[in-house]
Amino acid sequence: MKIIGAGLAGLLAGNILRKMQPVIIEKANSLPNNHTALLRHRENKIAEATAIHFQKVKVQKAICETVDGKQRITTTPNIIHMNNYSMKVTGGYHNRSIGNLDPVERYIAPPDFIKLLSHGLDIRYGQDFKITKTKSKCPIISTMPMPVIANMVGVKLNFDFEYREITVLSCDIAGVDIDLYQTVYFPSPTTKIYRASITGNRFIIEHIGSNIIPENVQWFKDDYLKDILQYAFGISSNKIYFDNFSLKNNKYGKIKNVNSQERKDFIKYLTDKHNIYSLGRYATWRNILLDDVHNDVFVIKKLIESNGYITR
Ligand SMILES: Cc1cc2nc3c(=O)[nH]c(=O)nc-3n(C[C@H](O)[C@H](O)[C@H](O)COP(=O)(O)OP(=O)(O)OC[C@H]3O[C@@H](n4cnc5c(N)ncnc54)[C@H](O)[C@@H]3O)c2cc1C
Repeated sequence: MKIIGAGLAGLLAGNILRKMQPVIIEKANSLPNNHTALLRHRENKIAEATAIHFQKVKVQKAICETVDGKQRITTTPNIIHMNNYSMKVTGGYHNRSIGNLDPVERYIAPPDFIKLLSHGLDIRYGQDFKITKTKSKCPIISTMPMPVIANMVGVKLNFDFEYREITVLSCDIAGVDIDLYQTVYFPSPTTKIYRASITGNRFIIEHIGSNIIPENVQWFKDDYLKDILQYAFGISSNKIYFDNFSLKNNKYGKIKNVNSQERKDFIKYLTDKHNIYSLGRYATWRNILLDDVHNDVFVIKKLIESNGYITR
């Protein structure tokens, strides 16, 4: 069988379906490693399915609000915080996780999770996936974004793919002893930051929009990060410095769910007409988590087997 895309969804499927001897086709010349935003899991099932150890941690959360031009921290979310935050990240009003700031238990993958997931998999880099006119004999799992594959098969869908680009700046906090699991939400429309988190010693700042941080201006990043660390987390020390920077834009950072039958019909059309099974947030165009992707791999496995494909 084939898997299109060596992102998190494709690699996870490759691991769970090893017995089907998948060949993973990846457009890029190396592992895309495209998830730099915060990644936490509600359950330990991905760790169990992949035999990669996840750390169980307690996560504390708070809100940073701007009052009279000054930042203030609160752990009591109100309706205005919730609605401002939702409008900021989705462009609409929906219930979001900011509504509940109780400490929660989460599972954290190791920093080299993507590399570990790729071990032993047959990944063919630098290859474009081309769709054939006739139905493929071997099942194909596609993790390509739905708008991309719709374009490939020449299907015009009658709904808009609405999304918001995000920019994620992350780095290690060095020079002090630090091991924290904390998230601060920023509902205020006056800042592009919507969430800042510390995972161990990794500092992750997520912004709505693109071209927010100058790529090569180190002094800017240092001052910017020190400021956020101080006013949102109360952490300051002359010894602190930042290391291992990553600055990435994600075009589909926030996608808007499409609840239309047409979306489901298109997923079914791809299976019936091309033997393609859609997997992941972008391929199925739903705001799902990697935990959900894990469940979907098992659904796809059953579908593939029920269509007569033999698992070795
Ligand atoms: C901001 C953010 C926060 C998240 N937080 C969490 C979390 O805390 N916990 C959690 O469990 N999940 C979280 N997720 C979800 C998690 O990242 C996804 O479930 C996971 O990445 C699954 O993969 P995917 O299908 O979404 O995309 P991926 O597998 O990452 O990507 C799809 C594939 O499509 C390919 N591709 C992209 N564009 C093109 C193109 N134009 N042409 C061809 N191929 C293309 C990519 O190279 C990749 O191989 C978060 C996602 C985001 C965006």
